[in-house]
Parts: sequence; C-alpha cells; structure tokens
Amino acid sequence: MKFIFDFDDVLFHNTKKFKEHMYVSLEKAGVSRAEAEEYYKKVGGAQFGLRKILDHFSVKGNLYVKLLDDSKNFINKDLLDIVKKLGKENCYIVTHSADEAWQKDKIQNTGIESFFTEINIVPEGKKEAIEKICERHKDEEVVFIDDKAKHFADLNFVKYPNLKTILYDEQGFQKLTSILSKS
Ligand SMILES: [Mg+2]
Repeated sequence: MKFIFDFDDVLFHNTKKFKEHMYVSLEKAGVSRAEAEEYYKKVGGAQFGLRKILDHFSVKGNLYVKLLDDSKNFINKDLLDIVKKLGKENCYIVTHSADEAWQKDKIQNTGIESFFTEINIVPEGKKEAIEKICERHKDEEVVFIDDKAKHFADLNFVKYPNLKTILYDEQGFQKLTSILSKS
C-alpha cells in the first residue's frame, strides 16, 4: 500500500497553528493582524509566500529565517509517527503551492523530508502527480490523504481503481488508522 500525503493542514498544522504564530510574529514586527489577514485573504492560500508578505509590509530583520526555523514545531506528530511506521518507500507528499521556494523551504525546515520517497510541489491541480504514482503502483492500493475535497474531484477513479482517498477533516486521523488496522 502506498500513501500520498498533503502537507498543509495534514502533515503540518498550518491554518490553526503556524499561521497564528506568523500573525503574532508579524504583529511584533509592526504589522497589525487585520492588515496581515487582509493581505492573506487577498493573495489566497496557495499563492501565499512568506517572503512576499514580509516584502509587502517592508518587515526588517530576519523573520523569514526565524519563522522557517519555528516551522518544525508545527508538524503533525501523530501522523508523522504513522509515516515512520509505514516506511519511506511507501510514503509520498503532493502539495499545492504557487510559491515553490517558500513551500520547499517550509518542508525542508520541518525536517521530515527523509521520511518520504518523493516530495512533489505542484503549482496547479494535483491530478497529474497523483495519477502518476497510481500508474507506477498499479498492483497496489494507493491512498491519497488531503484536507481539501476539491483535490479529489478530477481524479480518474475508473482508470485507477487502486486509488482511494481520505478527506483529512476532524476524523481524518481515525479514518486513516482504521484503514491501516484492516490492511
Ligand atoms: Mg492542505
């Protein structure tokens, strides 16, 4: 069985924890929460990059490096424990971001890279990257875990009957462990 994990809000506590931490840090650097939130909303999550927001508000100092360094504190540790048990050869990341440099820096700084066979940062949809993995492992079940259902919408489940999805919502972790206990 192969597993494809989304990064933000699956492997990484982005919205509830890291983003909060970022807002607090920005506030200390003189950018009000309201301004920062408005900027984030306008740019859109997948288009967002830390370097861009720091430049936009002309934030001085090395907040980029500091926040990147802090990112390791926001890993979903329970899920990472499962990844470690599943083994590198069975685990992939497919993450969506228009700012590849930022996403790459963030993933690298969390220190989880070595637990995955491949890390794929896609600027648009995930379809191509997901289906490529399904194609490579046709004789195995492939489980794709994402917190956004829109990433499941265009997948070809007829061509890839080996593909299963798990919506990583409040029950996401339990859904995954129940699949694992049955396999
Ligand atoms: Mg996500």
